[in-house]
Amino acid sequence: MTIHFNANLRSVVGDRTGMLFWIMDPNAAGFIIGYDLDGTQVHISQVDTKKQPIESWTDDLCRAKVQAAIGQDTPLDILSVRPWVFRRQIAQTFQKGKIFLVGDAAHLFPPTGGLGLNCGIANAHNLAYKLAFVQHNVADASVLFTYTDERRSVADTYSRQCVKNGQQIIALLRSLNTAGVDDPEQARRNMMIALADPLGLHIGYVYGASEPRPDASYYSPKLIPGARLPHDWISFPSQLSKASETARSALPSQPIDVSYVIELDEKQIEERRWSTLDLCAPDGFTLILGAKDIRLRSDVAEARKYYNMTPRCTPSFIMFCAMAAFTTGLALLATTPVGQTYGAQMLLTNIITPWGM
Ligand SMILES: Cc1cc2nc3c(=O)[nH]c(=O)nc-3n(C[C@H](O)[C@H](O)[C@H](O)COP(=O)(O)OP(=O)(O)OC[C@H]3O[C@@H](n4cnc5c(N)ncnc54)[C@H](O)[C@@H]3O)c2cc1C
Repeated sequence: MTIHFNANLRSVVGDRTGMLFWIMDPNAAGFIIGYDLDGTQVHISQVDTKKQPIESWTDDLCRAKVQAAIGQDTPLDILSVRPWVFRRQIAQTFQKGKIFLVGDAAHLFPPTGGLGLNCGIANAHNLAYKLAFVQHNVADASVLFTYTDERRSVADTYSRQCVKNGQQIIALLRSLNTAGVDDPEQARRNMMIALADPLGLHIGYVYGASEPRPDASYYSPKLIPGARLPHDWISFPSQLSKASETARSALPSQPIDVSYVIELDEKQIEERRWSTLDLCAPDGFTLILGAKDIRLRSDVAEARKYYNMTPRCTPSFIMFCAMAAFTTGLALLATTPVGQTYGAQMLLTNIITPWGM
């Protein structure tokens, strides 16, 4: 459907001036051709006439469509509304005796490409000089037969390209999941999902996966080795068992505060204070086991014994020990009696100093 309207779009587009403005909003998906941003424009959209018959396109509906396309309240006048069918049509021949077809009379193709008028003008140019040659006896009348031959194949190529462009535009709208969805709110939600961040790439990767991801946006939480630990809320009943009390004490003392989410009631806010992600200690490894993983529990105890052999030291403590060893070594070296090369003090220096390094 083409809606011809008058509106000043300067303040809407600001310095992003252009000729074609793509509208992805499902309420008015299509494009605005800004012939003159201060005045005359055209809004073109795909219409399902079974759902919105041509007669239903009143001034009010057109106004609502254009307002939705512009995206903000803007004074406008609807000048005309015209339905047209997305198709290509080329006459079998552009000439019958003394009658020649030029422009849209010879070929019709969708405006997706801006080629219709250009093709018509080139037809006229092609035909005009041939007519002049025949008129001035420079060429035989048979030269006129070349008009169809030359121009029809050009029109055919143009028409195919316009259809291809149009199909790609429709495919673009389909890829946003807005085409063919009746409920505009649902279509808008689909579009936002399609345009959303590639969440699947951000956090959906799995180390060691041999298959590439099926798509960039879709994220499905997985509890498998190599995948990111999925988020889920952890909530506790009001009466805690001793084990639950111990578990809760391991969680951060300052829980998440989602009280600003107005859709949540008090109970839901209370249930959203800790996430499974809080189980991961920032300075260590976390192993999450099911309650029945008895066998694994003994493995963990073994592993703990092994890892506990290495005492946990902070970097500053290690640095302090190194400096102390180095300083002691230097002090011993400095107080070594003059002339003594292989004495006990020198030996001690040589043993202690390397520990500082
Ligand atoms: C939305 C849209 C956007 C477009 N954008 C572009 C673009 O960017 N670039 C481009 O090159 N093309 C574009 N086109 C195509 C272009 O508008 C047409 O190809 C072009 O206008 C055709 O010109 P024409 O003179 O052959 O036919 P028309 O413009 O249709 O002119 C035919 C004229 O003949 C009159 N008429 C009809 N029957 C009779 C009769 N029996 N007696 C007397 N008069 C009669 C009609 O009233 C009309 O005025 C677009 C088309 C549309 C719909």
